[in-house]
Amino acid sequence: MTTFSDLGLSASTTEAVQQLGFEQPMPIQQEAIPLLLSQQTDLVALAQTGTGKTAAFGLPLVERIELSLNMPQALVLAPTRELCMQITRDIKDFSRTQQEISTLAIYGGSSIKKQINALNRGVQIIAATPGRLLDLLRRGKIDTSAISTVVLDEADELLNMGFQNDLNAIFDTLPKHYHTWLFSATMPDSVARIAKKYMNNPKKITVGTKNAGADNVSHQYLTVKPHDRYMTLKRLIDVHPDMYAIIFCRTRRNTRKIADKLNRDGYKADAIHGDLSQNQRDRVMGKFRNKSIRLMVATDVASRGIDVNDLTHVINYELPDDLESYTHRSGRTGRAGKSGVSIGIAKHKEKGKIRKIEKTIKQKFEKIDVPTAKDVKLTQLDEWSDQIKQTDTSPISDLMPALLDQFEGMSREDLTEKLIAFAWNKKGTKSQPQQKTHGHSQTIKNGSEPGFERFFINIGKKENLNPGTLIGLINEECRTGDINIGKIDIMGSFSFFEADNNFTDKILSAFQRNVKYRGRGVNVEIAQPK
Ligand code: AMP
Repeated sequence: MTTFSDLGLSASTTEAVQQLGFEQPMPIQQEAIPLLLSQQTDLVALAQTGTGKTAAFGLPLVERIELSLNMPQALVLAPTRELCMQITRDIKDFSRTQQEISTLAIYGGSSIKKQINALNRGVQIIAATPGRLLDLLRRGKIDTSAISTVVLDEADELLNMGFQNDLNAIFDTLPKHYHTWLFSATMPDSVARIAKKYMNNPKKITVGTKNAGADNVSHQYLTVKPHDRYMTLKRLIDVHPDMYAIIFCRTRRNTRKIADKLNRDGYKADAIHGDLSQNQRDRVMGKFRNKSIRLMVATDVASRGIDVNDLTHVINYELPDDLESYTHRSGRTGRAGKSGVSIGIAKHKEKGKIRKIEKTIKQKFEKIDVPTAKDVKLTQLDEWSDQIKQTDTSPISDLMPALLDQFEGMSREDLTEKLIAFAWNKKGTKSQPQQKTHGHSQTIKNGSEPGFERFFINIGKKENLNPGTLIGLINEECRTGDINIGKIDIMGSFSFFEADNNFTDKILSAFQRNVKYRGRGVNVEIAQPK
């Protein structure tokens, strides 16, 4: 077994790594660290996020810093503010057992004055986004004369995000006596061009196959009609009560819409997209990191730099337009040796795209079925069974002898069935496993009868609606006469009705098709709790 000290790290850095709980170097570290410690060389390393790449360059970097020299000696360029901050945190960690290396994160969108003050106090390693760095270089605020290492982290993302010109300008500003270490998950032409133009005979390291998805991510997809997408998402969440996931949408508008809908339906979710201020973004990230929300809906761009290690799932609510984004999305799970699942919700006609992604990631997708209402029910019953087993019985234990008499003669099976059915009926059938607080799942009760769902509809007496016409409308739109309709309350400009909850999704999706009633667009939703 290779250890960190085998890689040639100093005793104090090895100790720091041990304190961080890293037991064994990850493959990219095994390859990169000895090379970067022993040779003055340029390097191109193909590695996904989550493979331990930050330590692969960060540990050799820490060893190279001349502690007595209080000048910038290394520049790390990264695509997002979050990543810059993560890198500075990691470098501080790696140097915790020695005199602290002064490390500064520099990024746009926050006070340049403060950054200039910090630079004036002296820094040894700078982790920066290209735009702000270039600004400071042009203002002459960074002494580049002692820079001996430049790291490009997530180079493909840097270029995807349009930093090409900034990078060129930065390279042109720096004195020519540094080595460049380039890390990238993928190797598109744009990255190859940068490597060719600015690097000198770089050594190459590839961990796993080129462009391959992380090995510990399994890929699944299901095909749905567009109007079933949201229902499918909810079902997926319902059958994975411990889901901790990023849900990817293509547009900012959709991230907001989906997060809002999920919240309305009782799932705790938030959205992260380019319209948020940095403060809002930090707040959302904070909640996601400490798991007070476990579902984050994000655009591709906004999700960059999110460094959460234990995501169970990545959900592609919409498949990405370009294939490489899929690699980035799915690489958000399966990090740091953990396994994860990436699920694509595809339209029927997107099967070709799935095949193309398979070629890019060199892994097969498993086709799965949309979880059924029964699957959801079973998941919840499983959860309840666990909760029942953990229930504290002390408050009633002294009454048990009397209570037991009541159930005399019933078999264990009958009694269990009755108790669970009793709990089920009491709670209502809308499972909201994501609403878990303190280990108990809360459920929303919207006042419906057992086995029935209560719906809101935005038409009422004003539109001359009566129970007969309402039932007619539901049957017509759902193209069936089988739905058992319960209680109906017709109000002035809206109404409520109850219907067999086996048909909940059918009803909701039927009314998503621009239904009109007497000229008015009809909207049906699950009724809010009373
Ligand atoms: P990165 O690819 O740099 O984003 O690293 C992914 C995660 O793996 C980070 O949270 C690191 O702290 C962690 N990590 C890096 N190297 C090791 C290691 N050798 N053993 C265990 N965890 C590690």
